[in-house]
Amino acid sequence: MDRPVRVAIVGSGPSGMYAADALTSQDDIAVSVDIIDRLPSPFGLVRYGVAPDHVSIRSVRDTLDKVLDKPGVRFIGNVEVGSDLTLGQLREFYDAIILTYGASRDRALGIPGEDLPGSIAATDFVNWYTGHPDMPPDAFVDVLQQSRSIAVIGVGNVAVDVTRVLAKAPSEIDWTDMPQHVLDALRESVVTDVHVIGRRGPAQATWTTKELRELGELEQTRVIVAEGGDATDPASRQAATDKAVARNVAVIDEWAQRQDDSRSHTIHLHFRCRPVEILGASRVEGLVVERTELDEDGQAQGTGETHVIAVDAVIRSVGYRGTALEGVPFDERRNVIPNIDGRVVDNGVAVPGLYVAGWIKRGPTGIIGTNKKDAVQTVACLLEDAAAPGFRTATNPSEAAVDAIVGAAAVNESGWRRIDAAERALGATRGRDRTTLWSRDDLLAAARS
Ligand code: NAP
Repeated sequence: MDRPVRVAIVGSGPSGMYAADALTSQDDIAVSVDIIDRLPSPFGLVRYGVAPDHVSIRSVRDTLDKVLDKPGVRFIGNVEVGSDLTLGQLREFYDAIILTYGASRDRALGIPGEDLPGSIAATDFVNWYTGHPDMPPDAFVDVLQQSRSIAVIGVGNVAVDVTRVLAKAPSEIDWTDMPQHVLDALRESVVTDVHVIGRRGPAQATWTTKELRELGELEQTRVIVAEGGDATDPASRQAATDKAVARNVAVIDEWAQRQDDSRSHTIHLHFRCRPVEILGASRVEGLVVERTELDEDGQAQGTGETHVIAVDAVIRSVGYRGTALEGVPFDERRNVIPNIDGRVVDNGVAVPGLYVAGWIKRGPTGIIGTNKKDAVQTVACLLEDAAAPGFRTATNPSEAAVDAIVGAAAVNESGWRRIDAAERALGATRGRDRTTLWSRDDLLAAARS
């Protein structure tokens, strides 16, 4: 090809940014890369997923930000693929497309009462406290002002984040970059008790030890192991031969034995409790759980014995879910785009010029760094294809044609830099490093200032 290979990356989260980095860190094939995001700001879950009090994990955005400065890389924010720009248009303008739009929806529990007011998807709560433009500022104000007791279902790292945010004292969180309305609502919160519900035992929980330990180090909140916290059954003993699992089990054991803790608020850990119904007439009033036993494979089997945990709200943190993009094959069972090593496949046959990376490729698992290896694998396939005869090429490979369609609505890299500066300036007025601008209008105004 006598011009750079034109690549569109759909989604500017970690996997999209790592893919752009990998594409522009090699000299064999010249590339130009447009990173397209439906939001005016880049970095996806690093901005709208990683908890704001996890500063060191969030600082990965400084690394990702450098990718936007690389020659041949453009950011096209505030442009939604599927509506502002169709997949057909992308196919016309780019030789290759890498889909890295993640898994942004919540998985359903499928139990009665799930849709009651006060039953909340963790994805929404996380979006709210990180200042996602899709979440209205008052989304959870009532819940926080009316709920003394909240259940968090699931024992993964998102459940830990949500629990910690609910359980922290205002002084432990008011230095973060959360939008001011979130900090105000958390300061006014009346929540004193958070019940964390695991359907299996401590040895099967998917949280990581560092994150788990933090729950025991909070200023105003103690942790108690309310039920099912032993890991003495055969499946758990077997699981605990893994060092990471053994560390988690040891933390829970230590908490189970801890006494004389005078902190005013409480995190109650319930293991071997399967949620079966959310109770309430017009809003959440309780959670019915069924006690479980673990079979030899470590899977939860219901015992038929149920009890009610009195709570005023329920946050469902049972995993994220990817969604389909029109015109792209989709695996409805796994909620991912079917692929082989990142090459999108339709009934087992590779779709020319279409690639995938990150959570929409492999499902919502792993830490941020996992996406680097994943994106590198996809980019290696793309570059291999680009070097081979018969590589699919765009019919109209022109930047100007893209710009003509996305027009003035798009936020480019300079626009993002202005948002960044505006957020830092806003933070400085309150003695913080940054305050996240949450509304799309404010983000766009800052981008165009
Ligand atoms: P996750 O680790 O898959 O946890 C989901 C939890 O929901 C599991 O405890 C699972 O239990 C439970 N669950 C699923 N279906 C259930 C049901 N029907 N009833 C009751 N419980 C149910 O997912 P996540 O917490 O959403 O995290 C997603 C990814 O992001 C993970 O890889 C996580 O490590 C990562 N992350 C990392 C950090 C960090 O590093 N600080 C922070 C946030 C997220 P079973 O195991 O029994 O299915």
